Amino acid sequence: MRKKMVAGNWKMNLNLQDGVALATNVKDSLANDKPHCDVVVCTPFIHLASVAEVLKGSVVGLGAENCADKEKGAYTGEVSAEMVKSTGAQYVILGHSERRQYYGETAEILKEKVLLALKHGLKVIFCCGETLEEREDNRQNAVVKAELEGSVFNLSAEEWKNIVLAYEPIWAIGTGKTATSDQAEEMLAYIRSIVAEKYGQAAAEDTTILYGGSCNASNAGELFAKPNIDGGLIGGASLKPVDFKAIIDAWKK
Ligand code: PEP
Repeated sequence: MRKKMVAGNWKMNLNLQDGVALATNVKDSLANDKPHCDVVVCTPFIHLASVAEVLKGSVVGLGAENCADKEKGAYTGEVSAEMVKSTGAQYVILGHSERRQYYGETAEILKEKVLLALKHGLKVIFCCGETLEEREDNRQNAVVKAELEGSVFNLSAEEWKNIVLAYEPIWAIGTGKTATSDQAEEMLAYIRSIVAEKYGQAAAEDTTILYGGSCNASNAGELFAKPNIDGGLIGGASLKPVDFKAIIDAWKK
């Protein structure tokens, strides 16, 4: 049975003290109320080591929001996958549309990042999704397929076990405009079908696929009720502990 998951993406929000306070809040809210899914918070690099301390012994996993496409060396300002792993983090988000859009991350660059993250023992939450224009042209399936083919479909079956996919239509990220549960389900079913073509039906059934894009406390229940939606990658709402907990609790219904 594939894992259900709710993962928070804090993006470039919260100073260190506020990040530690939020992580403490998330941990405490789940201490006596076990979640029915995996819960992960993905934080800026500088928060990782401190948040890892906070989360020690709790059910909450930890991830970074990015890592370098190089192993190590003279790459000023970069943070390697090995460094991320050494903080105690278990996950890294790669392929987020904000990284592709604002930082020019291509399929090739992301392919390198994914390989390095896996090599250093991180699980990858790999994001894909189309722009509004691409959806209006009905090209969303081709776009998502190309993103997966370009950066993760080169992986071996063994490596694939450490991949979580997140479908995040760009037009729904931070816009308050969620994909309908039918639109999200249709895309996730399509993604599962192409994973099946590549890695076989059993591997596809075991692959956790998340929806992301303005997922919140009021729409999570309807989204998670769909058979192919295994949870959410949550941006804005993951900064509000009550809302994040309510999304996690959507798995209890
Ligand atoms: C995201 O950026 O991964 C995301 C889903 O953001 P939001 O929930 O704010 O739309």
